[in-house]
Amino acid sequence: MNKILTVFVIALVMLSCRDKSEATNFENKIPVYAWTAGPGEATDAELVAKFKNFKEHGIDGIMYNGGQDPETYKRVGKFVKDAGMEFHTWIPTMRQDPNDKLTPELFGVNRLNESAFDKPAYASYYTFLCPNKEQVFNYLAKMYSKVADVEYVDAIHLDYIRFPDVILAPGLWEKYNLVMDKEYPKYDYCYGDKCVADFKEKYGIDIKEVEDPTQVQEWKQFRYDLITKLVNRLAEVVHNKGKKINAAVFPGPTIAKNLVRQEWNKWNLDSFFPMNYNDFYLEDAAWVGEMVKEEVASVNGKKPIYSGLFITPFPGEKADRPDPEDHGLSPDEMVEAIENGDIQHAGQL
Ligand SMILES: [Zn+2]
Repeated sequence: MNKILTVFVIALVMLSCRDKSEATNFENKIPVYAWTAGPGEATDAELVAKFKNFKEHGIDGIMYNGGQDPETYKRVGKFVKDAGMEFHTWIPTMRQDPNDKLTPELFGVNRLNESAFDKPAYASYYTFLCPNKEQVFNYLAKMYSKVADVEYVDAIHLDYIRFPDVILAPGLWEKYNLVMDKEYPKYDYCYGDKCVADFKEKYGIDIKEVEDPTQVQEWKQFRYDLITKLVNRLAEVVHNKGKKINAAVFPGPTIAKNLVRQEWNKWNLDSFFPMNYNDFYLEDAAWVGEMVKEEVASVNGKKPIYSGLFITPFPGEKADRPDPEDHGLSPDEMVEAIENGDIQHAGQL
């Protein structure tokens, strides 16, 4: 599972597909964004050279993961802006490492009553918070707020803004030796006391007494709404700073709802970056276009949708590599994915 994070980093090129009304804002160029992380031990000169290189390759904006310290974004953001690109800070939301402010009771609890604090699903880093705790909102609001205060920051880019995968993308089942044909208790969150009590109060159902909670539609909706409310509150905080806010989301949102409980078309964000990683879903390049069509329709064409593309780090070697996380679009498939996404569903350039 560790590679899922890595894969995201190498999914470099983004394609913009949006409603015609947005087209005039982009001066006829498809805006292309890239995710990258750092700075590690990089010197200022190395960072300047890195971002100059991105710009020369046609990148218009950087999603930068540099931890939670605003000082890092202050240093790096200047170089990104000087290179002539947008600077978005890419900081995970619900997945957080425990620290002295994020104490055990703030983490999610699965249907086996195990806490993500000490018994996370899938992998040790899958320490997801409960979205229904005020201290969690306060922590995130304060953290994003401080980053949004940095003058070079154009936008806050949310990631892991969701529940843990209750169903893993089908392209990963074999690799992780899982068959996720339904919602299994180990991966099904959040059954913490507050979530159970709040759901009972709102819908009159004690979810712990229900024989098969996976069939209760209200329980699904309750959890979509928890994430939606959290996002919309964070959006208010960031907008009050005069900055934009967007998110990396799962495809759809049908797939996003079913796999990670993201009803993202209801979120008050400025744009969306769905991770339309076709190989994770055992689909071909043309599928990217189908997803973009659903995504644009889901926001009634009113918000920009930037399709995330999963690009192979090993062009020409797909057949020799059994690991689906080594796959991804080859250069010729990229052309197909981009043309499909743009021509069919995004209007004219
Ligand atoms: Zn909870």
